Amino acid sequence: MGVHSRSASHRRLSENEWNSYHEEVVYCLEEIEYIIKKLPEWVLDEPAEKTAQTQQDECYIHSEPLGVVLIIGTWNYPFDLTVQPMVGAIAAGNAVVIKPSELSENMASLLASLIPQYLDKDLYPVINGGIPETTEVLKERFDHILYTGSTGVGKIVMTAAAKHLTPVTLELGGKSPCYVDKDCDLDVACRRIAWGKFMNSGQTCVAPDYILCDPSIQSQVVEKLKKSVKEFYGDDAQKSRDYGRIVSSRHFQRVMGLLEGQKVAYGGTGDAATRYIAPTILTDVDPESPVMQEEIFGPIMPIVCVRSLEEAIRFINQREKPLALSGLGALQVIKKMIAETSSGGVTANDVIVHLSVHSLPFGGVGESGAASYHGKYSFMTFSHRRSCLVRSLKKEDPLKGRYPPSLAKLFVPENPGGPPKTKSQSCHCEDQQ
Ligand code: NAD
Repeated sequence: MGVHSRSASHRRLSENEWNSYHEEVVYCLEEIEYIIKKLPEWVLDEPAEKTAQTQQDECYIHSEPLGVVLIIGTWNYPFDLTVQPMVGAIAAGNAVVIKPSELSENMASLLASLIPQYLDKDLYPVINGGIPETTEVLKERFDHILYTGSTGVGKIVMTAAAKHLTPVTLELGGKSPCYVDKDCDLDVACRRIAWGKFMNSGQTCVAPDYILCDPSIQSQVVEKLKKSVKEFYGDDAQKSRDYGRIVSSRHFQRVMGLLEGQKVAYGGTGDAATRYIAPTILTDVDPESPVMQEEIFGPIMPIVCVRSLEEAIRFINQREKPLALSGLGALQVIKKMIAETSSGGVTANDVIVHLSVHSLPFGGVGESGAASYHGKYSFMTFSHRRSCLVRSLKKEDPLKGRYPPSLAKLFVPENPGGPPKTKSQSCHCEDQQ
């Protein structure tokens, strides 16, 4: 499967095979190994803390499959973002309907031909098609839907799910901020940011969407980002085997349109025929400009100047909660950012990598998503966590007090038709009189 999937992924986004394999398949294989290792532990009933009244009983959580799960994948990592949730859903014992993105048509047809060779085609069907097909599939009743893609379509999926009261996991996007503190090692910080931003030509959901930094370091940030871009992709990224392409002409036009009226410090060029957009850095970006109104999802890095950490925190909190937040600076800076903002996840002093840790839940919050998956969180997402209390039919004596009419004896009728008062309440009243 690995060899096929790396070339299918590679064709649309024109990344080299090694990058596609490393960024998608290796990570997925690691997740499979991790889940296989941990599953015997996760499937065990989980003892729960008891109350005073249930000391003699057995109280535990039993995980059971939900039933049939629908996974709607997207195109930017078309193998990983379809197969990784499927792995979790299978581990939890579900049947899975897979709907890959039509934009990554090579991967979609590869999954449709490979999956039935290895898995039961009735339990794990692959449905291919575009919006009309997805709309049709969404009319069916599922026991859970995991959708990865844009926030707008996330709302359509959730509306369709609501008709059947189907729970959803929404893995969405948004503008993920990256704060660079002026007292940090800018060489290392900018190299790490450039790696995460320009990987897959900026089409990574957790990539930093824009930089917030003090105006005094803006030009240094530009120079160091440029230096890293040249180290990674050479003087002309168009010729680099490591640099990707934009997925479609529509997205190419959209991303290029965001450059209008901006101060371009580096890059800014593109080639519509090959959907290439140069690694681009914009400076002194106005927070009200179009590039700051929507998720870029392309290789453009706007720099917005803020004069302090507090201003950066205010900036982040005035906007929708992002999928990812990165901060590069001293530990106290990072801790303050984490304490005073919210986001789906955080990577500090680097970007993106929190999503690679199998023991951390991955997901958004608010507009960037709902619920999470990866590792044990996938198992929990695709399981019903059933509350079980198992009692013996013996030992009836302690329970006798709960049966009627014993409780009624505690009440003394006062005015007929009025609310009853307990003995102690009525005694208290009498004492007061
Ligand atoms: P897309 O256009 O491929 O859509 C994803 C899926 O939704 C496809 O299977 C498609 O068939 C279906 N779809 C599209 N329009 C639909 C409609 N009107 N009705 C029903 N189904 C429809 O992907 P996209 O939306 O371009 O994806 C990019 C977005 O995904 C970005 O915002 C990015 O941040 C986000 N993303 C999030 C994650 C994550 O894990 N949180 C990962 C990758 C991408």
